[in-house]
Amino acid sequence: MHVIFSGRRKSGHLDLEAIEMAVRSAMHHAGATALSELLQFPVPATEQRTLSCSCGHRAHYRELRSKRVLTAVGKVEVSRPCYLCPHCHAGQFPADVELDIENSEFSPGVRRMQAMVGQEAPFDHGRQQMKLLADLEVITKTVERTAEAIGADIAAREQDEIHRAVQLDLPIVGGRPIPFLYVQLDGTGVPVVKKETVGRAGKTEGQPAHTREAKLASISTPSR
Ligand SMILES: [Zn+2]
Repeated sequence: MHVIFSGRRKSGHLDLEAIEMAVRSAMHHAGATALSELLQFPVPATEQRTLSCSCGHRAHYRELRSKRVLTAVGKVEVSRPCYLCPHCHAGQFPADVELDIENSEFSPGVRRMQAMVGQEAPFDHGRQQMKLLADLEVITKTVERTAEAIGADIAAREQDEIHRAVQLDLPIVGGRPIPFLYVQLDGTGVPVVKKETVGRAGKTEGQPAHTREAKLASISTPSR
């Protein structure tokens, strides 16, 4: 800031864009420091030093381990308890599950941004958008990977539904195969007449439903 104002005194004008970006950077930096402070998990209490492992044995607390995570305010350091299973050697980080950063170097907020800009292929635009809009440095490949990982996750969740669905006799599709499709889906409550909500629970317990949900989806291909 000092540099900015001494610059103004010399040249007699203010470069607002340079200043707003510098101020945002400074705010992010302060935010990341505060967030890192919050993300220092303590050593677990004596009675919380074992966890059940998926192999059927117990995992034991080993130590605090840290990792870097890119958040909406920049890179932060998370330090959290690590548990190891002596039987199958699998490691567990319960804090990562709680924070939704399991096996990810991106916070949920950043992943949401990446998924949003990732729809706008080519993905290098995504990287540029992340830099300009959020002052976050990500490499093109990670924007692409996050958008695709979120797509894969949605696909996995939908599998059950798909298997329950009725298979129609669909026509054989000609033309070039499409390796990637992006699907955006949202739902909203639509007010309906009373008879349309008979037997449906409302959002408030004991209250009847006033709306039915309408879903809208758009499907697009990346245009390179
Ligand atoms: Zn195990």
